[in-house]
Amino acid sequence: MALLEVKDLQTTFFTDDGAVRAVDGVSFSVEAGQVVGIVGESGCGKSVTMLSIMRLLSARHSATTGMASFDGEDLLSIPNKKMREIRGKQISKIFQDPMTSLNPVYRIGVQIVEALRLHDKAISRVAAFDRAEQMLAAVGIPSPRERLRSYPHELSGGMRQRVMIAMALINDPKVLIADEPTTALDVTTQAQILELIRKLRNEFSSAVVFITHDLGVVAELCDEVVVMYAGKVVESAPVDEIFENPQHPYTWGLLGSLPGRNLGNDRLYSVPGSPPSLLDPPTGCRFMARCAHAMSICETEPPLEILDHSEHAVACHLDPGFRTTQAIAFRSIANRVQEPR
Ligand code: SF4
Repeated sequence: MALLEVKDLQTTFFTDDGAVRAVDGVSFSVEAGQVVGIVGESGCGKSVTMLSIMRLLSARHSATTGMASFDGEDLLSIPNKKMREIRGKQISKIFQDPMTSLNPVYRIGVQIVEALRLHDKAISRVAAFDRAEQMLAAVGIPSPRERLRSYPHELSGGMRQRVMIAMALINDPKVLIADEPTTALDVTTQAQILELIRKLRNEFSSAVVFITHDLGVVAELCDEVVVMYAGKVVESAPVDEIFENPQHPYTWGLLGSLPGRNLGNDRLYSVPGSPPSLLDPPTGCRFMARCAHAMSICETEPPLEILDHSEHAVACHLDPGFRTTQAIAFRSIANRVQEPR
């Protein structure tokens, strides 16, 4: 049963130039102990989707509609007080850049303990510091007792990201949202953090939503994949299905443009052009201007998401037989993506 279920989520920003529909009809669900990857280019709406669900966007400058159900509660309609109790306690988020999320003037221990005591007023200060120490040890920080006294600038980038993960997990959240948590890290530290999230998912049975632009990371970590383009979901499926049988031209582009993994003839496949302006999006398929297979119907009719028997949904007007033929060509890339790096 889904722990987090999102249906027809729509988020609009009100700008001086007009309304921007940054998220347009997004639906997906996450079960306990499952990792769902949300994939797409910068600006496709993946981070805005999760900020909308956590109600972290300015109500003055944006509006969100649809449904986001967590454990039977509709996050979009519950009172602010209830939402504050859920946020950080039951649903927490690891941000992309720990340097902008950790307060530079407070010691690590103070910041972790504050995250804990915000939701557990009864816990003593001593017990809170003990718990913070245990959590630093759980995320692989050596000498955790001493580290509690460190300031953020005294730690490496990888260590700071581990501290962020410890803070996000200190209240045993049921849902963990990780927004490109490894983007600013070197490859070795990135691998360690991914391993850590995998281990914590197993130990804490948290549901994880992992936001990324990297299909290689998705292959290593995720159970389900949601591919977003220009505010919409264009394809979603179990991870093996996405790599064995990718069905959308944009997913083919993402697969083909992974560095070091091309079509086998030294030609790096890339998606030409750039995403459309969401101030005035195309009437039909939003990917049309960049799609090598576009047809006249794509210009006028927005493709609907069609779900098949294997829980694989795709929004594209192409003939399913043609898509399957194309998918076979991309399967060879997918196999290389899934090889250990
Ligand atoms: Fe390309 Fe048309 Fe499919 Fe859009 S609907 S991805 S333009 S073929």
